[in-house]
Amino acid sequence: MSRTGAIDWERLLDGLAGFYGTGDWRVPYLRNHAEDPFQVLIGTILSQRTRDEATDRASAALFARFPDATSLARADPGEIEPIIRATGFYRTKARILPKVAREILDRFAGQVPRTLPELTALPGVGPKTANCVLVFGYGIPGVPVDTHVHRIANRLGAVRTRTPEETEAKLRRILDRRFWIPLNPLLLQHGQNLCRPIGPRCEICPIALLCRTGRARAAGRPTPRPEDARRPGQGVRSVGRPAPTRGPVRRRTAPSRSSGRSASPRASRSR
Ligand code: SF4
Repeated sequence: MSRTGAIDWERLLDGLAGFYGTGDWRVPYLRNHAEDPFQVLIGTILSQRTRDEATDRASAALFARFPDATSLARADPGEIEPIIRATGFYRTKARILPKVAREILDRFAGQVPRTLPELTALPGVGPKTANCVLVFGYGIPGVPVDTHVHRIANRLGAVRTRTPEETEAKLRRILDRRFWIPLNPLLLQHGQNLCRPIGPRCEICPIALLCRTGRARAAGRPTPRPEDARRPGQGVRSVGRPAPTRGPVRRRTAPSRSSGRSASPRASRSR
């Protein structure tokens, strides 16, 4: 059994994987969901402050026109803007994307780097995006913390943090590395379905007994701490959208990581 504080992470991941039918989280992620590191990188930048659906459409259109670093590096921002207009801050992103592509060509011989320091030195790349590239592009253990991971880790009682960056730092310290890769896809799916920003459905949650908030609610006690669902500007997707009290649970075999990377280039990883 692997525990961090009161959290039995092995049981927790087993519970989520079983509930959502995603298969064994111990199977290396890339065995089932190989993604192009370049498209993961660009898709995750596009997903910043953007809803998943818009990210998915913009990513598909962008990669149809500019499928690799060479073609994107030559692109004019004016060509990119109309393609990604549906994403937040599209003018800024249209300026950044060719710069990112040129840096990859000039400094890394066309290969997306594989380390956090190199990745976060690229224009427009923060910790979450860099971790998404490691995990979903290369299958290297990383801890992509989007709004869902941040919110749920706090509700579980695994961390007490105010920002996704603090959550990432804490999880890196307390979480066994074998849990790093499956953590984001499973918590993302849970955050999109039951453990939503508003109105978490603890009464049908498969991991309620492992969760401090779930146990408190079941006992009729107030939740242990204010739910720090997000900080301003982080992951607009689904945040603030009231959760239905009833409704179908979405199960996916290949969870999208939007807003957060979270799925393919589609992976919005604002999260
Ligand atoms: S019990 Fe409630 S707060 Fe805890 S993980 Fe489940 S839905 Fe979220």
